[in-house]
Amino acid sequence: MKSWHMIIDLSLCHDCNNCFLADKDEFVGNDFPPYSVAQPWYGHRWMNIGRKERGQYPMVDVAYMPVPCLHCDDAPCMKDSPAGMIYKREDGLVIIDPAKAKGHPEIVKTCPWDVIFWNEEAQVPQKCTGCAHLMDEGWKDTRCSQVCPTGAIKLVLAGDDEFAKIVAAEGLDVFKPELGAKPRVYYKNLHKWTKAFIGGTAVFADTDECAEGARAVVSLGDKAVGEATSNNYGDFLVDNLEPGTYELTLAAPGYEELKKSVELAASVSLGVIMLAKA
Ligand code: SF4
Ligand code: SF4
Repeated sequence: MKSWHMIIDLSLCHDCNNCFLADKDEFVGNDFPPYSVAQPWYGHRWMNIGRKERGQYPMVDVAYMPVPCLHCDDAPCMKDSPAGMIYKREDGLVIIDPAKAKGHPEIVKTCPWDVIFWNEEAQVPQKCTGCAHLMDEGWKDTRCSQVCPTGAIKLVLAGDDEFAKIVAAEGLDVFKPELGAKPRVYYKNLHKWTKAFIGGTAVFADTDECAEGARAVVSLGDKAVGEATSNNYGDFLVDNLEPGTYELTLAAPGYEELKKSVELAASVSLGVIMLAKA
């Protein structure tokens, strides 16, 4: 059977908040029994967009990360809540039963991603339902995926085996895999949130010109783990690195090869690096 999966691409999200607003438009003031009671006007972010800045001036990367409920297959919220209050549908969606969970604010704390909110007026814990009521009507999009102008959020209704092939082919990741919760929301370009980069600007010392086409190779021990070619401003950036001690090798034809040790805790811009004529 086809089940619910979502793919969110961090490199395409530009923080327009259309997804956040579409969710509000759908759920504020509207009950969708048996899945949800109306979302309150304030305080809830069923689709929450995180913001992260990496690097330093002049080399800065900003990433936006939309986070709805991840509809985990091994959901911590289900395990840590009284039986029956949270359940999983056949299509994979995790639903907090608003009738059974009424009066249980402790459920809010059961999600490691903090996507459950407390509705003070209705006295129920609430979160993204995956637009379960629309899925029941045969929709092929959620409200948030439907309105995303860049295609950063995609709903994929597919068999689990078929989706596993998409995950492998597109190199998708889950957020915090170490929790073993098996989320149904996968991310593309998650390194923009979870990993670090080494960047800099190469300059030819003899001409004082930007070193376009210089090759930057980042190695860990004797293994190359990333590489990049500098652009017409001499800028290079090697991304997707874990914290560690790396060696950067910078080379350009006709110039001396330069090696530099880099202690990487967070993304770093090394500034201008002069290449001496060979
Ligand atoms: S993301 Fe949180 S609320 Fe959603 S299923 Fe997973 S543990 Fe439950
Ligand atoms: S899937 Fe539906 S309920 Fe979940 S964040 Fe998107 S619009 Fe809101």
